[in-house]
Amino acid sequence: MNRKKRILTGDRPTGNLHIGHYVGSLKSRLEFQNEYDTFVLIADVQALTDNFNTPLKVRDNILELLKDYLAVGLDPKKVTFVLQSQIPQIAELTIFFSNLVSVARLMRNPTVKNELYDKKDLFKHSIPYGFLGYPVSQAADISIFNADLVPVGDDQAPHIEQTIEIVKKFNSVYGDTLKVPTLKLGTIPRLVGIDGKSKMSKSMNNTINFSDTTQDIKRKIMQMYTDPKRIHSTDPGEVKGNPVFIYHNAFNPNKSEIKDLENRYKKGQVGDIEVKEKLFNAIDAFISPIREKRLELNNKDNYLYDILKEGTLRARDEAQNTMSKVRESMKLLNFN
Ligand code: ATP
Ligand code: MG
Repeated sequence: MNRKKRILTGDRPTGNLHIGHYVGSLKSRLEFQNEYDTFVLIADVQALTDNFNTPLKVRDNILELLKDYLAVGLDPKKVTFVLQSQIPQIAELTIFFSNLVSVARLMRNPTVKNELYDKKDLFKHSIPYGFLGYPVSQAADISIFNADLVPVGDDQAPHIEQTIEIVKKFNSVYGDTLKVPTLKLGTIPRLVGIDGKSKMSKSMNNTINFSDTTQDIKRKIMQMYTDPKRIHSTDPGEVKGNPVFIYHNAFNPNKSEIKDLENRYKKGQVGDIEVKEKLFNAIDAFISPIREKRLELNNKDNYLYDILKEGTLRARDEAQNTMSKVRESMKLLNFN
């Protein structure tokens, strides 16, 4: 019997989801959930690699993340939500995979390099082994569930590449056992932050979240970074690469309004305030229904835990199945 193709993707419970997650990964998940067997992993073990000293932050964000998922439209009848720390088989596979990757290869991973730079204060004395190795555990997350497709933002591309290398190596050493996954990038693989930094990121304080109030959104958009060379509204401005226009193109459904603003901006015939007010209207209209659904999920912790538990138990069965095959391929003894 042909099984449905499977998706595996996920997020770290380190804060609320933002509009960068939407264009990078959530939008693909929403489209694919009807057609693929979709697994969404809440990566609390991975979150601990750089939040090991704030475990309650990680724990408290688990349900917040699940609320974001349901509010944005992921359907628990179609999606298997999985809590990573409840699948110990992932840790086991990580150990086996760690023999198949070199330290030099891990050090060359460009996303890890950038993250190490951002975390230079946290890791000022030395780099923890767990942090350097988190792409190996991510390779285990993906292959333990036999994922065909991994929809993510482009910061994850090096990790998927590394996963493919590890899986191929595993299969060549121990025999064909694990599925080689494929990367699927989102419509905007890397959305800039409101501060103009190259990536909107939970840990950078430059996000617009689904949980933000109308007032939060207004304040954030009004302080957004635009064309730094433009001093007066009568100066011709740069549209390309301008965060305000990137967001307009991603979230404002009124394409003729965007065209008109772009034309006037290039000619110095519109002020930043008007461009930002129209952007605020578009983003607030996009977020408002999500925010409302999210609020309805407050005080429904039991319902949320049930969804997470049901998905995790299903995922644990899958993981156990894969690990039986892995152990057999690796000629490990079995005392059962
Ligand atoms: P943290 O700062 O804790 O790493 P984050 O905002 O980077 O948080 P993650 O949980 O690491 O979020 O990423 C979850 C998914 O969202 C990944 O697939 C990632 O590629 C994607 N993603 C995150 N930020 C963006 C962004 N700015 N643009 C597009 N995709 C993004
Ligand atoms: Mg990240």
